[in-house]
Amino acid sequence: MEMEQLKKKFEDLFGDADYRAFFAPGRINLIGEHTDYNGGNVFPCAITLGTYAVASKNDNNEIRLYSENFPDIGVITFDLTALDYKKEDVWANYSKGMLKYLKEAGHAIDSGLDMVIQGDIPNGSGLSSSASLELLTGVVLENLFDLKLDRLDLIQTGKRVENEFIGVNSGIMDQFAVGMGEKNKAILLDCNTLKYEMIPVELGNRAIVIMNTKKRRELVDSKYNERRSECEQALALLQTVVPISSLGELDEETFEKHKDVLNSDVLYRRARHAVTENQRTLRAATALKAGDLETFGKLMNQSHISLRDDYEVTGIELDTLAEIAWEQPGVLGARMTGAGFGGCGIAIVAKENISAFIENVGAVYEQKIGYPAAFYIAEISDGAKLMGGK
Ligand code: ADP
Ligand code: MG
Repeated sequence: MEMEQLKKKFEDLFGDADYRAFFAPGRINLIGEHTDYNGGNVFPCAITLGTYAVASKNDNNEIRLYSENFPDIGVITFDLTALDYKKEDVWANYSKGMLKYLKEAGHAIDSGLDMVIQGDIPNGSGLSSSASLELLTGVVLENLFDLKLDRLDLIQTGKRVENEFIGVNSGIMDQFAVGMGEKNKAILLDCNTLKYEMIPVELGNRAIVIMNTKKRRELVDSKYNERRSECEQALALLQTVVPISSLGELDEETFEKHKDVLNSDVLYRRARHAVTENQRTLRAATALKAGDLETFGKLMNQSHISLRDDYEVTGIELDTLAEIAWEQPGVLGARMTGAGFGGCGIAIVAKENISAFIENVGAVYEQKIGYPAAFYIAEISDGAKLMGGK
């Protein structure tokens, strides 16, 4: 990412100004999938793929936004006093939502602003380019207007934009990872209490390879809602025999003891994923702390299998990537990441094997699926932040 080019773009569009530069990462989830809304743990980290901004206050009431990723759309302009969602403002609605909610919360955003952005996260691939844009806007506003913002409030504001302004029914994980990330650390987050622990990720001679199915986005929203409702049904049935408020409170043994109350195989398997995935996530964090990467990798593989067989959210594209990855030399573990039904998988691969890995997995994928996957090497990054002044 060429920051100098982005600064030049700012000057071309908006003239000379006392601008500052910002970055917000994307995220991957190492393990703990579909556990967030079940009151369980997730284990994401921020990644070096992200969204960059150059931004400055202006001296009128206009918000002027431009994305180098959507050059044909050009500059999107709206007034600081007209912050309602508008379809024609397309991607700028993510920024507008942040402005609206922060202003409503009483923060003194008292002039317009000019901003150019550019991201290297593939949009709509489950690496959370949307949370990246929300938190990017958040840190821009925080810095330019010298707002006193609690980071957790900013994260909750991002989630609210996603849920209420954009209308996507998602949990707190994405904004939390993008807002709280630290270089070379993963975040073990209890989605019930929001208690979290930063755990160092020391991969030695290995790296994280992101594998993008490039599958067209469909099904995700309807199936996501279906899984949420299946888990709610399973919880309601289990609550007739155990005093719990979420599936995340059950260990495997207690769950198996009471499983007869679940009157269908589907509900049993959905709940079993929620329970076992949460336990795997806790074990994976323990393994990582102990430097036991072998166990960590095996838990990743088991996570994928549970998502494939019990939760049924993988699909042929993600299964193909994970299953070929498992057979490659130097691979510690591989699984889907994100909501599923497409999007991305991740694999932890020995650095010396990465080029062969990409070649082999890429070739088999294309042959079987009919179009190529894309691969990126991710490092674990800091969360959303100011990068510097002019
Ligand atoms: P994901 O979060 O998985 O990448 P979403 O559909 O939730 O997918 O969010 C993608 C949307 O976020 C894009 O369609 C666009 O509106 C917005 N977005 C993300 N990154 C950028 C960017 N660099 N420039 C403009 N809009 C962006
Ligand atoms: Mg998103």
